[in-house]
Amino acid sequence: MMSTATQGSAKRVILLMSGVTYRGTAFINAAERLGLEVVRGLDMPRPLARHWRPTLPLDFRDPDRAVRDLVAYAYEHPVGAILAVDDAATIIAAGACAALGLAHNSPDAALAARDKSVMRQRFAATGVPSPAFRLYHTDDDPAHVAREVSYPCVVKPTTLSASQGVIRANTPEELARAWTRTRSIVLCANAEGSARPSYHILVEDYIPGVEVVVEGILAAGRLTPLAIFDKPDPLTGPFFEETIYVTPSRLPATVQDAIVATAAEACAALGLREGPVHAELRVDDAHPWVVEVAGRSIGGLCAKILRFGTEGTSLEELILRAAVGMGGEPPHREERAGGVMMIPIPRAGILKAVQGLDEAKAVVGVEEIDLTIPVRRPVTPLPEGAQYLGFIFARGATPDAVEAALREAHRRLRFTIIPELRVLAPRQQ
Ligand code: ADP
Repeated sequence: MMSTATQGSAKRVILLMSGVTYRGTAFINAAERLGLEVVRGLDMPRPLARHWRPTLPLDFRDPDRAVRDLVAYAYEHPVGAILAVDDAATIIAAGACAALGLAHNSPDAALAARDKSVMRQRFAATGVPSPAFRLYHTDDDPAHVAREVSYPCVVKPTTLSASQGVIRANTPEELARAWTRTRSIVLCANAEGSARPSYHILVEDYIPGVEVVVEGILAAGRLTPLAIFDKPDPLTGPFFEETIYVTPSRLPATVQDAIVATAAEACAALGLREGPVHAELRVDDAHPWVVEVAGRSIGGLCAKILRFGTEGTSLEELILRAAVGMGGEPPHREERAGGVMMIPIPRAGILKAVQGLDEAKAVVGVEEIDLTIPVRRPVTPLPEGAQYLGFIFARGATPDAVEAALREAHRRLRFTIIPELRVLAPRQQ
């Protein structure tokens, strides 16, 4: 049932976004193409909001308050949908939609898709193939943890993303080192004002096999796969750097069907019913295993590589259409193969120079290269960092051609990273 706050308001959508998201512009452009009025729900601490007075400031670190502010706004200005453009505010969007009677995932499902420990518990309870796991407190003794877990295992934060703090350990000694590193990443994120501070660390069995991504959209609990991406670089650890995504997948059709079926089971286990889904799975000799399911679309700028139907409709447009009920069955992805490379940060330091951009862009099949970190900025690789130097996009007749183009373009790019000099102030006498 629709509440009075939403009647006759389908044309206005609230997009929840933080200042660091890459996803805002694509959603805003898509909304404009669809003739929707966009209200930006911007993450901003209250003192700043009092100063800048944006239309709809929200403090993502205070989710209950953000939900109340959203609901109050929507009563004054009826809306057809509230969407989080990325992970940061999926729980807030769910809370506000529940209060306003808008179709969305429930707050409980949004939480399960955001917190890896809740997710693993749901998968275990419903029989979704997912690794065995143990949940620890950041204050637990790593020597005790090292004795309890089996090897190889993966140590990970429960609420971070982009593989930040995710480390494989093959032995108790490696576990102890990984623990210390992941723990300090978790505690640093908390200190920096993470929207979901956490004092937990998950240790789970390592799943071997190749990794794929299912990008899909849910409507009334039914998952429509929009693309399956192969991740052709081996992701065997100790850190799990995302690099190349290529679609269509080169796996046999029966395996792809099993992947989609498992992703759908995973969504159902979490209670996800509406909107975008980004699922990561591994496939070993036996069957697909779910690494993670997020109730959002693909991150960074990667969605640029997806085009649908004869008009080349964007992923953001499909998501917005579904959210405001302009949906219908989503069109198929274009026939050509497409791929993106997230350019990893090879070492820590200051990005001094980038060379070879023209040569890289000249590679046949390469459509665009977006460098996202300006020169003179510090760069931090995994597992502490959560950024990429940029994104390379390529299209071609086959996935192999796309993958080769991405690799060649990357080979032609040269990033000069110099050590960061830390000048220590003289100690006060
Ligand atoms: P994030 O949300 O930070 O990306 P994930 O849980 O998705 O964290 O892990 C990041 C990457 O680490 C995955 O894409 C996968 O390559 C690897 N990984 C995570 N958990 C496992 C596991 N249990 N077994 C094997 N690889 C894993």
